[in-house]
Amino acid sequence: MELQIRDLSKTYGNGVHALNGVTLTIPLGMYGLLGPNGAGKSTLMRTLATLQEPDSGSIRLGALDVLRSKDEMRRTLGYLPQEFGVYPNVRAERLLEHFAVLKGIPRRARKEVVEALLRQTNLWNVRREKLDGFSGGMRQRFGVAVALLGNPKLIIVDEPTAGLDPAERVRFLNLLSELGENSIVILSTHIVEDVVELCSRMAIIDRGEILLEAEPLRSVAELRGRIWRRIVSRDELPEVERRHAVISTRLLAGRTVVHVYGVASPGNEFELVEPGLEDVYFSVMGRHHGRVEVVS
Ligand code: ADP
Repeated sequence: MELQIRDLSKTYGNGVHALNGVTLTIPLGMYGLLGPNGAGKSTLMRTLATLQEPDSGSIRLGALDVLRSKDEMRRTLGYLPQEFGVYPNVRAERLLEHFAVLKGIPRRARKEVVEALLRQTNLWNVRREKLDGFSGGMRQRFGVAVALLGNPKLIIVDEPTAGLDPAERVRFLNLLSELGENSIVILSTHIVEDVVELCSRMAIIDRGEILLEAEPLRSVAELRGRIWRRIVSRDELPEVERRHAVISTRLLAGRTVVHVYGVASPGNEFELVEPGLEDVYFSVMGRHHGRVEVVS
């Protein structure tokens, strides 16, 4: 089964082109949708989740015409939004049972389904505790339990790790990685590491356009031998930016580390480095914004 998104466009009332002819084919497994804030990720996720209408385009999940069969899509969809909204003063187990009723899970199966999900998301021991006392990580895992009700074929996870501390983030990503085995899981994020660690395929989106569709590891390998590093002082930076195809600059212990794209060495002061997905991301973004001329 595949999710096929064809030529999807959306312009908001204020004139913002949030989606501009987006075409993607998403196979079974974990799929990363990577892009900066404002790229159009949430618009795309909400459209897939049938929460809003596109202006044009089509979406197919296997044989299902999603935009024409919204009710059917909703039955087979798990959606974990960025913000889960208000956390009620209700015990976790009770609330999950309530969502199971809404999802149409028959009474005789309900108890078993709820228990299995609470165990899978590692919330079994706190099932009698109230949600408004949960940590950020526990809330996210509860969101996953809700999203998994009814064995969805498509699971959409929108910016999930933003508010989590490092330990919670690892636990949450491990949980997600188990889901990709039997369903399509789309992970929308602006955090490059989330994609490296989890996704076998990905797309980079910016200003409503898909800039790259790739296997993360392969796209990193293609940059091998082309990413050069130099540590510069603050005064040297403008000159380096003028003369070279700088794809990223970042501070490291008070110094500025510059990454430059080049088929050949840009100069003696530079050393060749092993590329990472960040280099892929920033070179693609730099090219899109006309800052970096990348010749392949
Ligand atoms: P992302 O999830 O990648 O941050 P969004 O899909 O939220 O991107 O937003 C894409 C663009 O559309 C942004 O410029 C945003 O300001 C704009 N936008 C999002 N929602 C609305 C809306 N309801 N009305 C008007 N503009 C919107």
